[in-house]
Amino acid sequence: MIRERAYPVDPWHIRETRLDLDLMAQSESVFALANGHIGLRGNLDEGEPHGLPGTYLNSFYELRPLPYAEAGYGFPESGQTMVNVTNAKLMRLLVDDEPFDVRYGELRSHERTLDLRAGTLERVVEWVSPSCQAIRVRTVRMVSFTHRAIVAFLYEVEPLDASARLILQSELVANEQLPPTSKDPRVAAVLDHPLQAEEMLEQRTGGLLVHRTKASDLRMAAAMEHLVETPGKHAVTTEGHPDWLRTTVACKLEPGQKLRVVKIAAYGWSSNRSLPAVRDQVGAALASARLDGWEGLVEAQREYLDAFWDHSDVKVEGDPEVQQAVRFGLFHTLQAGARAEQRPIGSKGLTGPGYDGHTFWDAETFVLPALTYTQPAAAADVLRWRHSTLDLARERAQTLGLQGAAFPWRTIRGQECSAYWPAGTAGFHIGADIADAVRRYVSATGDYDFERDYGLELLVETARLWRSLGHHDRHGRFHIDGVTGPDEYTAVVNDNVYTNLMAQQNMLAAADAAKRHPELARKLGVDDEESASWRDAAASVHIPYDRELAVHQQSEGFTRLQEWDFENTPPEAYPLLLNYPYFDLYRKQVVKQADLVMAMYVRGDAFTPEEKARNFAYYDARTVRDSSLSACVQAVMAAEVGFLELAHDYLGEAALMDLHDLHQNARDGVHVASLAGSWIALVAGLGGMRDFNGQLSFAPRLPSRITGLEFSLLWRGLRLRVEVTAEEVTYSLRNGGGSARLDLLHHGKEVTITQVKPVVLPIPPAPPTGLAPTQPAGRAPVRRATRA
Ligand code: BGC
Repeated sequence: MIRERAYPVDPWHIRETRLDLDLMAQSESVFALANGHIGLRGNLDEGEPHGLPGTYLNSFYELRPLPYAEAGYGFPESGQTMVNVTNAKLMRLLVDDEPFDVRYGELRSHERTLDLRAGTLERVVEWVSPSCQAIRVRTVRMVSFTHRAIVAFLYEVEPLDASARLILQSELVANEQLPPTSKDPRVAAVLDHPLQAEEMLEQRTGGLLVHRTKASDLRMAAAMEHLVETPGKHAVTTEGHPDWLRTTVACKLEPGQKLRVVKIAAYGWSSNRSLPAVRDQVGAALASARLDGWEGLVEAQREYLDAFWDHSDVKVEGDPEVQQAVRFGLFHTLQAGARAEQRPIGSKGLTGPGYDGHTFWDAETFVLPALTYTQPAAAADVLRWRHSTLDLARERAQTLGLQGAAFPWRTIRGQECSAYWPAGTAGFHIGADIADAVRRYVSATGDYDFERDYGLELLVETARLWRSLGHHDRHGRFHIDGVTGPDEYTAVVNDNVYTNLMAQQNMLAAADAAKRHPELARKLGVDDEESASWRDAAASVHIPYDRELAVHQQSEGFTRLQEWDFENTPPEAYPLLLNYPYFDLYRKQVVKQADLVMAMYVRGDAFTPEEKARNFAYYDARTVRDSSLSACVQAVMAAEVGFLELAHDYLGEAALMDLHDLHQNARDGVHVASLAGSWIALVAGLGGMRDFNGQLSFAPRLPSRITGLEFSLLWRGLRLRVEVTAEEVTYSLRNGGGSARLDLLHHGKEVTITQVKPVVLPIPPAPPTGLAPTQPAGRAPVRRATRA
């Protein structure tokens, strides 16, 4: 596990000042670079030692059989696993014939820096070889945001004390050997030799490899090229093999002289295009990047990120550790989605093999809120990808005997890949989560073209699913039975409140959108009767409530289940899923992650303030946060019910999930939902931002240690800045000109913001709260107010 403060606190950098070989895999995730299309784990340039090598292309996967001891009807037959593709990171150095390997000789100094504004990972190392030759190596790498297919590396090496012969071998390697995975179900399947060689092309300064997967039949190409600068004589050669390509640079340098190599690599893949087409595509990408050169690529990266931070940065005063972590989180959120371009966002982004590279509701519910208000085009692209999988989701619904579309609980390409029904297909709420993301995107952007071309069909087909999955009882109440809500420690239940409220919103949104686009709706087969049946079901959705305890039941009967014995659950027994049988978790009141509390955030319009306070206290005492998706939501609701210090604690946990490796599995990739969730915890939590029924509202309040909070949002093309202090809030519009107006609610009061001048409003005194909520024994979040 990463010790706290493994990375010194710094507002814009994540810096590692010594190399801990036991923590390599974690730091490879933290230092991963990606642009939504290509992902490189932060492996050392020379490849070894490593935790887990990893290079990924969004949606490039292989199929693998899903073996069942007892198969059942409708179980998915094959799974999809993200492939570790051809590695372009490898640059091995030999110093007077001795391999530069940090495990041998003396590593005098080591520093790696992820620069969140430059979008680069820099490494500076001084090393003395076993035969006493001292060198300094400086490398910088980037995955370009502006050239989607390009990764680039700068490699500089100089001898420090005496002249040295240097050989740099820069490679492309397919089918790397991977370390075996653990028994943890959240870890990925390892595929042995997933790539079949199709073509190899070598030239003096680089070349290209084309490979194909066996079962999924996808083709990929990787190409590289080198620009070498060094004083004096040097030789450059390239040799190839179907699975590797090696460009070798040989030179002899005196102290003070430097070898400088720029390596540019391009990736492309396709399920349709011919070999020449894919080959030419990477060739063209290389040519275009070469035109910019290293300096041009670096400059464009910086400009891209300047614009991103200008409208997405969140400033947090008073807690520098959270400030750093939130920026780190935003950076990884951008890396996961920026150039995904109609591909999914996996729960680990492209930073590691965890969860096989699958996308879950994490994308729509946790990542998209942050992107919708900062990078709306990226959010729309994810939903366009969902739309492109509608046929598969319709097929799945048919298999299940349902109407409309049943989106997969986890997938890469669109087919259901969950082999475990109760925490898989039964998580039907994914459909409503997608619908909510559509509603949110359209509400935030006013992009009705998108609604017409993509949104409407997504809303209609998901509404159809609810209408056929649920039923009216003899009193007319609408129930949705046999589903699993967000809390995976309570499965296949009746009337999960989260699911029911989300389905309600989904059906109403479908009926409303059908009304806005009547002709198109008719083409989709929606008639007045069907719309009316959605409204009718939505109006009579059953919401289970325990009158005696005066709290909502997460699902029917939840509050009468046996209590979990938290006092006698040792700390090492968490996460419970790895130490207790599911049947035991399922029949007791133990909550893996925010579920009813999640419902109170996303459907906050369906609860009164008193209900929220009582429910929050009840469920916080039973929520163990074995999922990284929980803390950020608990932060939001803790803030809303008035426990700002607790909100701060949960915010800290969400933001530091990977920098502190709080779930001890950062090695498999970063937790993108939690990292994006730290934006949610700040903006929706401390900022109190909500967007119910198209009404933007804020209710900011800060905990004692946070003295200032500042964030910006895009709302219907307008850039709103919100600056919060302990006493007041300043709202200002940063674009739109004189006529632009933005109506919002500030602590329930209507306000209009124009570009003429900022509006400064006081924060009303907080209403009194009851006793602070408690958490299960040993599960309280780290207190932030008392931390230095
Ligand atoms: C959580 C799910 C989540 C998945 C992927 C599981 O542990 O319970 O809600 O979607 O991880 O992050």
